[in-house]
Amino acid sequence: MTTALKAPPLEPILDDIVRSHRPQRETGSVPANIPFLAAVPFNRFGIAVATASGEVFSSGDADVPFSIQSISKVFTLAMALRADSSGALWSRVLREPSGTPFNSLVQLEVEHGIPRNPFINAGALVVTDHLMEETPDAATRLLRFLTAQADSTGPFIDEAAAASELSSSSRNLALAHFLKGFGNLRQAAESVVENYVRQCSIMMTCSELAKAGLFLARDGQGALGTVLTPSEAKRIGSIMLTCGMYDAAGEFAYRVGLPGKSGVGGGILVIVPGVCAICVWSPRLDAKGNSLAGTAALADLSDRTGWSVF
Ligand code: GLU
Repeated sequence: MTTALKAPPLEPILDDIVRSHRPQRETGSVPANIPFLAAVPFNRFGIAVATASGEVFSSGDADVPFSIQSISKVFTLAMALRADSSGALWSRVLREPSGTPFNSLVQLEVEHGIPRNPFINAGALVVTDHLMEETPDAATRLLRFLTAQADSTGPFIDEAAAASELSSSSRNLALAHFLKGFGNLRQAAESVVENYVRQCSIMMTCSELAKAGLFLARDGQGALGTVLTPSEAKRIGSIMLTCGMYDAAGEFAYRVGLPGKSGVGGGILVIVPGVCAICVWSPRLDAKGNSLAGTAALADLSDRTGWSVF
């Protein structure tokens, strides 16, 4: 594990990234099924880097809370793997890119209820179901985990946002019922979707998310000790690289060269193994659901610092 930061001084670079990439005019889209995300000002932009040696550098709106949405899937997977010494989870979800939109139903039907990976909605519902076997309120357990890893009492579940998303969750309910129909969901479909939507509605800042994700860059070592084995941390990084950016994982790997996971709230968490975790946030999305400005900023940061797994 490398603990020294292999980069030039970060503050001026991050300030410059914010100057260059903060959106000046409204482009991109917002998710249709989560109305409150449309109200977030388009010109929000924050970036934070938490280094393996314990420093945090940030710029722009790095301390403004935003909805983590699908970034939560990285952390629920980590929690599920931690409690899954027998590997049972991997008989219920695969580790292949899906090549389909994150909330697609088609593949799940054709592939008999086994989701392609834990980062599409179907796979994330299986992971949440798995966690609920130990703790019915898996979303609150995730919140505690994030609070501890981020060493901050800031993260919270935006229950109003969750309730609003839940009222328009037909696709996620359909996915959950499909999974149930194929025998790949143990809890009631409605409770799994409710937990899933609440986990997605956790609000965190870039600085908090970068700190919370640091264990993935540090061979599984989190703020309070071991979260995962080095091998598990490596594997989550691999799934982030191949499946973390919806069906634009190839394009993101080409442009940024680092494992990442995005959410439709406009956040992207990226890992530089042995060096740091990075979180960038800007709310407007490209056609695949990834932050437009966030992706461009990470490509720029990777070029300037040389950070890449390649
Ligand atoms: N809660 C969102 C949904 O299930 C998460 C989507 C995402 O960030 O990918 O539609």
